[in-house]
Amino acid sequence: MRTLITNGTVVTASDTVQTDILIDGERIVGLGSDLGPTDRTIDAAGRYVFPGGIDEHTHFGLPVSGTVSAPWQTESVAAALGGTTTVIDFAMQSRGETLSAGIRDWMENRALGSSAVDYGFHITLIDLNEKVVKEIPEVVAMGVTTIKCLMAYKGSVMVDDETLFRTLQLAREVGALVMVHCENGDVVSTLQRELVEAGNTGPRFHPISRPPQCEGEATHRAIALAGMAGAPLFVVHVTAAQAAEEIRSARARGLRVYGETCPQYLTLTEEKLSEPDFEGAKWVCSPPLRPAEHREILWDALADGTLQGLGSDHCAFTFEQKELGRDDFRLIPNGIPAAEERLPILYAHGVAAGRITLNRFVDLVSTSPARIMGLYPRKGTIAPGGDADLVLFDPEPEWTITGVTQHSGIDYSPFEGLPMKGKVDTVLLRGEIIVEGGRYVGALGQGRYIPRKPYAEAYGPLTV
Ligand code: MN
Ligand code: MN
Repeated sequence: MRTLITNGTVVTASDTVQTDILIDGERIVGLGSDLGPTDRTIDAAGRYVFPGGIDEHTHFGLPVSGTVSAPWQTESVAAALGGTTTVIDFAMQSRGETLSAGIRDWMENRALGSSAVDYGFHITLIDLNEKVVKEIPEVVAMGVTTIKCLMAYKGSVMVDDETLFRTLQLAREVGALVMVHCENGDVVSTLQRELVEAGNTGPRFHPISRPPQCEGEATHRAIALAGMAGAPLFVVHVTAAQAAEEIRSARARGLRVYGETCPQYLTLTEEKLSEPDFEGAKWVCSPPLRPAEHREILWDALADGTLQGLGSDHCAFTFEQKELGRDDFRLIPNGIPAAEERLPILYAHGVAAGRITLNRFVDLVSTSPARIMGLYPRKGTIAPGGDADLVLFDPEPEWTITGVTQHSGIDYSPFEGLPMKGKVDTVLLRGEIIVEGGRYVGALGQGRYIPRKPYAEAYGPLTV
């Protein structure tokens, strides 16, 4: 089937042009005018046409704190409605087991047959046992070319510096990229214990237990370890001015260090944690929301190239699930849903607010993540040969986010009341319309596993 998208303004990371797009089956086959006979025409007048969003940071169906985050069946639909056509979710190793067992578990028991959008996996390494040391090349051959380590969550998934350093060395040998959650886990666990022992058990003490310096220190250390291993590094969810500064300084020295922030850190502040009646628990995520002064620094870091991506860190829990920590903030499941809001928030509060250009917006929500994560040029741009993953975006509507307008499988929105401009109208996944007029019209299971390439952009010169 040949589909023509006509009358739209096509936006990539480098260009904004009036052009038609011809799709044949799953792929884009032509750009221009007079592209020949077609079976179907989509009129994109008055709308931008963006490459499908790539969200490199989701947790759909993640077991955590004795419960499980909202599943692929609802959350991948929310992502699609927000203009995201590919997610990369974090599969997790079980202690003593292999990485590939964790990846197979995530593939077969979570995503397979349940995803509205295309997907890949990172693997979270918690235990560098001998089986893992041997299997890393096999994991890369499965298309899982990113390994995540956490420097926080002491006593559960935190790795020590030796494990992180050896992982960086092993990853470098096979062209894998290490992603790192940067917070000093020893500091966090000490501050948490002191707070709870003093009777400070409510949600508002969560950010006090994880100060910005604790993120800055771990970011500095991770960059230093990556430098000594000669390996590139991707810093997930940068929230603090201190962390952004470490990345900016490393890149100025020519180190291949990349980073993302998330919509919640660009729009919300730690005051939310003080909402009464335990409502603050809705905003418990790690690293925590920060004081307002960090927000403008993060916007600057997105605009000036210090950060290359905007992941959602989507991890949705109902308020009932959050209640697991009513008597102790350490037991509140950490996470905020933002996959649906990610691209529209960056448009409204970035482009429409004059903080970033339209082309930088596309770069951040799609192109740079595709390059760094080994999906480019199949994904991440609008060019012949690429997958026909496209978003038709109406820049005009003004609206407000509420728990009713969001489609995540939970009962509230952490972005309640946030003013917005611009809406996702139509989304195509490999040539199929999955969102039409802002409604999901696809089928679960349409999303396909996309193996990613090793020796990705991260191993070339510092170009993104
Ligand atoms: Mn994290
Ligand atoms: Mn995360």
